[in-house]
Amino acid sequence: MSTDTAQPSLAFSIKRTAHPRPDGERADILVNPGFGKYFTDHMAAIDWSAEQGWHDARIQPYGPLQLDPASSVLHYGQEIFEGLKAYRHADGSVWTFRPEANGARLQRSAHRLALPELPVDLFVESIRQLVQADQAWVPSAPETSLYLRPFTIANESFLGVRAAQRAAYYVIASPAGAYFAKGVAPVSIWLSSDYTRAGRGGTGAAKCGGNYAASLLPQQEAYANGCSQVLFLDAVENKYLEELGGMNLFLVRKDGTLLTPALSGSILEGVTRASIIQLARDRGHAVEERRISIDDWREGVASGDIVEAFACGTAAVVTPIGQLKGHDFAVGDLDAPADKVTLALRQELTDIQHGRAPDRYGWLTRLA
Ligand SMILES: *Cc1c(COP(=O)(O)O)cnc(C)c1O
Repeated sequence: MSTDTAQPSLAFSIKRTAHPRPDGERADILVNPGFGKYFTDHMAAIDWSAEQGWHDARIQPYGPLQLDPASSVLHYGQEIFEGLKAYRHADGSVWTFRPEANGARLQRSAHRLALPELPVDLFVESIRQLVQADQAWVPSAPETSLYLRPFTIANESFLGVRAAQRAAYYVIASPAGAYFAKGVAPVSIWLSSDYTRAGRGGTGAAKCGGNYAASLLPQQEAYANGCSQVLFLDAVENKYLEELGGMNLFLVRKDGTLLTPALSGSILEGVTRASIIQLARDRGHAVEERRISIDDWREGVASGDIVEAFACGTAAVVTPIGQLKGHDFAVGDLDAPADKVTLALRQELTDIQHGRAPDRYGWLTRLA
C-alpha cells in the first residue's frame, strides 16, 4: 500500500466551517445517503491564472460559488471532472483507490479542453486534505463510501472564444450508499441508434461535462424503453461497441475470455476497466481489447458463445447487463441466473477497495 507523504508543491490553508452539520443529522444521512444528494461540510479549492499558475490551495466551508455571468464555463462548456471514492476499512482507517490514475486522467482531460493541468501530487493532496477535514462523513456500512468529485472550470469573465486565462479546481464530497442495496441485479441497456457519444478527434476520451450533456437525451430514450443505461456505437460506421454514457463495457465468452472495446480515442479510459483487465488476467482469463461489432454480440449470445456482459465504472463498480434492447430487437434474458465471472470480478475488486483482500498491486492510498 502506498502511503506516500511527499510534500505537495503548494500548502493548503484550512478554514473550517462555523456551522458543520450536527452529528445527529449527519448520522441520519449516513444511514441512507443514496448517491450525490448530500454534501460534506467542506470543499477543496485551488485557483489558477495564466500569470500566477496554480495558487491559493485551500479547504473552505462547502457552499455556493460566486461566478461572473460572463464566466467562460457558462458559455463554452470548458469543464472537466473526475470521480473516485474514499473507503472506510474495518479498523477505521480511510483509503482511496488509484488516485494517481485519476490525477493523470484529469491532466489528459485538461489538455484536451485547453484547461490548465493540475500536478498529480496536488490532486492527491487535495483529496487527502478534504477527506481529513470531513472524515466523519466517510460511512462504514458494507459497500458504502464517500464519493469524491474533483472538477476544473474556466472562470475568466470574457466572451471571446479562446482558452480561458483563469480557472479554478474544486473537490466536493458526497456520501454514497451501497449501489445495489438489495443485491447485485442485472440491468437492461438501450442501444442508441440515433445518437453517438464521440467521434474521432472529438472529446470522447476526456471526462468533460459536455460529453454528459450530449448523453442525456439518449438516456431519456433508454428510460422510455425500460432501460437504465445507453450503449453507444462508433460514430463512423455505427457498428462497433464503444461504451455506455458513463461506464465501460465487457463481454464474457463461454471459454472465459473477456472482450472489451479497444481504446479507440473516443472511449473514456476507465480506472475500473484497467483494474478489471488486470484482475481477470491474474485469474487466468484471456482478455482481448479489440473492435467488437454489435452483430458479434447479438450472434454470440444467440450461439451461446457470449454468456455474460457487464459495465464498469467507479460509481457502480461492476454492473451485470441482463438485456440489450434496441428499436427492433432484444437480446439476453434478464431472469438468467447471476453471472459467475462478472460477480467474481466484482467481489475481488470491492474486497481490495474495502480492505477485505490484500492490496497486491499497491492500488490503495491511505487518506486518514
Ligand atoms: C468516468 C467514466 C467511465 C468510468 O471510469 P472509471 O475511472 O472506471 O470510473 C467510463 N466511461 C465514461 C464516459 C466515464 O465518464
